[in-house]
Amino acid sequence: MTLDNILEEIKKAQTIILLTHEAPDGDAIGSTLAMKTALKTLGKESDVIIKEFPRTFEFLPNAKEIKQESEIKKYDLAVSLDCTDLRRLVGREYFEEAKRTIVIDHHGTNSMFGDINFVNPVAPACCEILVGMLTYFNIEITKEIGTCILTGIITDTGGFKNQGTTSETFEFTAELLRKGVKVSEIYRKVLEIKTRGNFELLKRTLNRMEILENGKVAFTYITNQDEEEVNIEIGDHEGLVEEGRRIEGVEVSIFIRQKNHEDSYKVSMRSNSYVNVSDICYVFGGGGHPKAAGCLIQGNIEQVKEKLLKEIRKVI
Ligand code: 5GP
Ligand code: MN
Repeated sequence: MTLDNILEEIKKAQTIILLTHEAPDGDAIGSTLAMKTALKTLGKESDVIIKEFPRTFEFLPNAKEIKQESEIKKYDLAVSLDCTDLRRLVGREYFEEAKRTIVIDHHGTNSMFGDINFVNPVAPACCEILVGMLTYFNIEITKEIGTCILTGIITDTGGFKNQGTTSETFEFTAELLRKGVKVSEIYRKVLEIKTRGNFELLKRTLNRMEILENGKVAFTYITNQDEEEVNIEIGDHEGLVEEGRRIEGVEVSIFIRQKNHEDSYKVSMRSNSYVNVSDICYVFGGGGHPKAAGCLIQGNIEQVKEKLLKEIRKVI
C-alpha cells in the first residue's frame, strides 16, 4: 500500500527535504511544518525550504527552522506537499536531484510528479490528508503538530465553511480542542486579523470591483503600483478574491494581480456552486480545485479579463 511505501522511504532516508508551492498559504506552510514536526518523532531531521514566508504564520511550531536554501544538493528523499505540479514547486531543483520523491496533495489537477504519489482530491486540505497518514504511521498528533494541521484546515476550508469540509474535519478539530490546541486563537490569527497592507489592498479592490455578465461575475485587480503605494508584505493579497463571491447572485469571483511590472497577471478564481473554475484555469495552464483555482495569463488588465470572460461565458 502506498502509505507503507511512504513510511518505508522515510525510514530509509538519511536526508529529507520538504517542499511546497509558490505563494505559500496556510495549508502549504501548515502541511510542511506538520510533516517536519512529525518526522522528528520518528527521529528524523528534515529541511523545509520556503522562500516567501508570510509573517502571519510565524507563530507555527518550527517556523524558525525554515530555510531559504540548503547546502545539501542531493537529498535521499524529497517530499512535495500541497503542490499540483513541478512548475509551481519552490526548490524544484532539490526535488529533481533527490534520489526518491513523494508527492502528497489534495488537488484534482495534480500531475503525479513523484515516484510515489498520495493524492486525495476529496480532502478539503492537504493538512487533512496528514491526519490520516500520521495516524496510520502511529505518530501521535501532538498539540504542536495539531496546531500546524489545523492552520491548513482552517485556511483551506475558509474557516470550516467551504462545502468540502467533512464531518472528520469537525471531529478532528474537537479532538485538538481537547488536547489544548487554541482553535479560536489560530482562527483569529490566520483568518481574521488583517495586515495594514491587506486592508489597503482590500479598499482598492472593492472600489474598482466590476459586476459583469448579468451579475454573475465579479472582477477586480491590483497592479504592482498599488503594491508599492501601500507597501505590501508577502501574503498581503490573500483572501481578496473571497470578497467578490460574497455578493448575492455572483457565481464566479476573479481577482488578478500583476506580476513583475509586466503585462502578465496571476489569476485567482472562486465559484459558489456550478462553475468549475479549475477547468477554466486549466485552459490557461493552471489548475486547483473546482471552486478555487488559479493560473497565469499574459496581457494587460482588459485583455486578461476578456480571455477569462470568454471561457466563463461558455459555462455560466
Ligand atoms: P489561490 O487563488 O488561493 O492562489 O489558489 C487557489 C487554488 O488554486 C490553490 O489550491 C492553488 O494551489 C491553486 N493554484 C493557484 N494558482 C495555480 C496555478 O497557477 N497552477 C495550478 N496548477 N494551481 C494553481
Ligand atoms: Mn491546499
